[in-house]
Amino acid sequence: MNVPFLSLHDVTAMHGEEIREAACRVIDSGWYLQGKENELFEQHYAEYIGTKYCIGCANGLDALIWIFRAYIELGVMQPGDEVIVPANTYIATILAITENGLKPVLVEPRRETLEIDDCLIEAAITERTKAICIVHLYGRNAMTDKIAELCKKYNLKLIEDNAQAHGCYWKQPTSDSSLKGRGGDNFASVWGAHTADSTQYNLLKQNAIANRKAPTEAEEVMWSLLKGNNLGLHFRRQHIILDYIVDFICLDNGLVIELDGGYHNDLQQKEYDNQRTAHLQRLGYTELRFTNEELLCNPDVVIARIKAVASQLPSLQGGVGGRLVHTGSIGSAAGHSFYPGKNLGALGDAGAVTTNDLELAVAIRALANYGSQKKYVFKYTGRNSRLDEIQAAILDVKLKYLDEDIRKRQEVAAYYYDHISNPLIELPERLPNENNVYHLFPIIVKNNTLPLGRAGVGLLRDALHDYLADKGIGTVIHYPIPPHKQECYQHAAWNHTSLLGGAGVGLSLPITEMIADCELSLPISPCMTQEQIEHVVKCVNDFRNE
Ligand SMILES: *Cc1c(COP(=O)(O)O)cnc(C)c1O
Repeated sequence: MNVPFLSLHDVTAMHGEEIREAACRVIDSGWYLQGKENELFEQHYAEYIGTKYCIGCANGLDALIWIFRAYIELGVMQPGDEVIVPANTYIATILAITENGLKPVLVEPRRETLEIDDCLIEAAITERTKAICIVHLYGRNAMTDKIAELCKKYNLKLIEDNAQAHGCYWKQPTSDSSLKGRGGDNFASVWGAHTADSTQYNLLKQNAIANRKAPTEAEEVMWSLLKGNNLGLHFRRQHIILDYIVDFICLDNGLVIELDGGYHNDLQQKEYDNQRTAHLQRLGYTELRFTNEELLCNPDVVIARIKAVASQLPSLQGGVGGRLVHTGSIGSAAGHSFYPGKNLGALGDAGAVTTNDLELAVAIRALANYGSQKKYVFKYTGRNSRLDEIQAAILDVKLKYLDEDIRKRQEVAAYYYDHISNPLIELPERLPNENNVYHLFPIIVKNNTLPLGRAGVGLLRDALHDYLADKGIGTVIHYPIPPHKQECYQHAAWNHTSLLGGAGVGLSLPITEMIADCELSLPISPCMTQEQIEHVVKCVNDFRNE
């Protein structure tokens, strides 16, 4: 059986028709840069991430470069200042720092999670430290309460590399006042906080009360099934979100349930419903629609579906207080990549910056457009780093399906966690209540040496890679050479410890180096079949060191 590491062909085909339609719309429009498609995607993506601003740009590396460059232009940072960054990352994070003449200060990851070890950060802070740049690597949140504390204590900017984690959540403690209030009430995931203006609200309220008093037969049946924490979830009915009234909602996980009567077959109504669904989705809600007939004929099936979906949703439960915020809205700015293989991928290069800082947003918009805010007037020596209209239109289509795709990735990962069992292999630790979006599924191959007598010398991890390749399974190493071991940084001053005195002595980062030697990423994508997932598990479990 063939299990490609990632089939971009299949990923695109999942929404092929809509993607082609979007691309053709732009082709036929005669408008290819800085137009409506950019505007719409930027608005939708900002809404989704939960920030005030989104600036599309050419790629993820540029997005990160522009954030640091804008801070330099605004006088917040100066060349030579230090930025704390995980040593275990894709090199682009480091390139964005060095490109701006800033000094990366590499911090080791935790062995168990592979994300930056927040216990090691404080010791790395000096007079010249201006920022912590976290990377939500492999699709899992790297933010912690401790990092928030350190940013506050030392007045540091927090910059996020969100290239691998679109759609991932961090549970932010509400007690942290330094981080509160960002994004106003437009936060993607403060469920229940989206209300209409007061006149509109009163009108909606009257409608909602009237609906509650005179439920349809199906609504009555549904309510009898949902009410009183019947499913272990607290539902409300006829709840107002912006200027919509939703039939049922669980505010703990943002799950909306809608019942469609016959009139929903009306074409105009359908279009309205679809737009509403897309809007609610961007705001962080998950909507499930059932027809009255589905519910009345098969209530068991409907309830099973609600339970299955709810079991996959991030929830505010499991701890006092807190709210869920998307990665990319936590820090003062975030860089996002839409490289085709990312969870939200374009059909070419694309990237974006999200932020709530207007001044920063304006500077970045200019920097990515030759440094110009006004045609033929140049404030900065910028570059041409724009997002084109075709990619923006395609990304806007794919954004609608991102949460659904993530749930499929999470199902694959859950299966791997439940079924992979091989003493030679270690899976990263899963933390309670975390919401990993599994851009990648890294495993660590232990005892990473080959027995004597085996042809050639090498790493056991490489042997597993070859063994799986023989069984038709594609795997990739993320990443075989860590940034501090790359040729391009061999002479960089920051890559030499003064303690050891010198030239030629590079940094020693044993955990990062261990990951480079022992990590292997298994196939994971929203279009894997159950047979493929099982084949991967079987082959991984059968692998022996002999
Ligand atoms: C992909 C990636 C980038 C760079 O994005 P591009 O769009 O490829 O330039 C930056 N950081 C991380 C962690 C990435 O995975």
